[in-house]
Amino acid sequence: LKSQFFANISHEFRTPLTLIIGPVEQLWSKTKRVAWKHQLNLVLRNARYLQTLINQLLDFAKLEAGGMSLRAQETDLVQFVKRIVASFMSLAERQHISLRFESAETVISCYVDHDKFSKIITNLLSNAFKFTPNGGVIVVSIEKTEQQKVNLRVEDNGIGIAKHQQYKIFDRFYQSPDVKTSGQLGTGIGLAFAKEMVELHRGSIAVESEPGVGSTFI
Ligand code: ADP
Repeated sequence: LKSQFFANISHEFRTPLTLIIGPVEQLWSKTKRVAWKHQLNLVLRNARYLQTLINQLLDFAKLEAGGMSLRAQETDLVQFVKRIVASFMSLAERQHISLRFESAETVISCYVDHDKFSKIITNLLSNAFKFTPNGGVIVVSIEKTEQQKVNLRVEDNGIGIAKHQQYKIFDRFYQSPDVKTSGQLGTGIGLAFAKEMVELHRGSIAVESEPGVGSTFI
């Protein structure tokens, strides 16, 4: 019942939000006044953030209800991951973060569910941006292993995660206490969701991190 309720309300929130974003986008593109553009940008950024949260909640409810299955298709992971990383470039510029994509291979063919796999990377990248200060470095890389597997890494040189918290961060609703008090936005479901998506792909996810040095999600 709880999952059903979450699914219903997130669904109900989505429609009006879409109807807010559309007209605001139109106003943004029509106006020439810089001050208005600035205000509309704020509206859009926050409306899109709300949209991401609602979509995440909806996905999570679906997952809880056992209604998520894998729709895998053959994909070149190099191009696929490169494209997602590219979509974070303007955020990287805004935060003065150096964002890089690395792959020794030009093509890595693999079966993935496009929607779910992009959510895994987007979640990890969003976290990297959230916890890396201005001037930092974020590197996304992929490599083939000898066991015919693929390693995907999202590495940052941000605030890092204390050892005693590392095993909890994949739990649902977990946020580190300092994140909660810093006023940083978040729900604590991002990594739990990413882990479920990884496992749906029959993979595994782990973290290596050192406070003050950075974090690597593999
Ligand atoms: P949230 O929505 O709060 O970001 P997540 O499940 O995505 O929830 O992350 C859980 C917690 O893991 C965060 O509150 C943060 O403490 C920690 N964390 C995740 N990614 C990073 C990272 N790249 N660097 C430092 N801490 C991180």
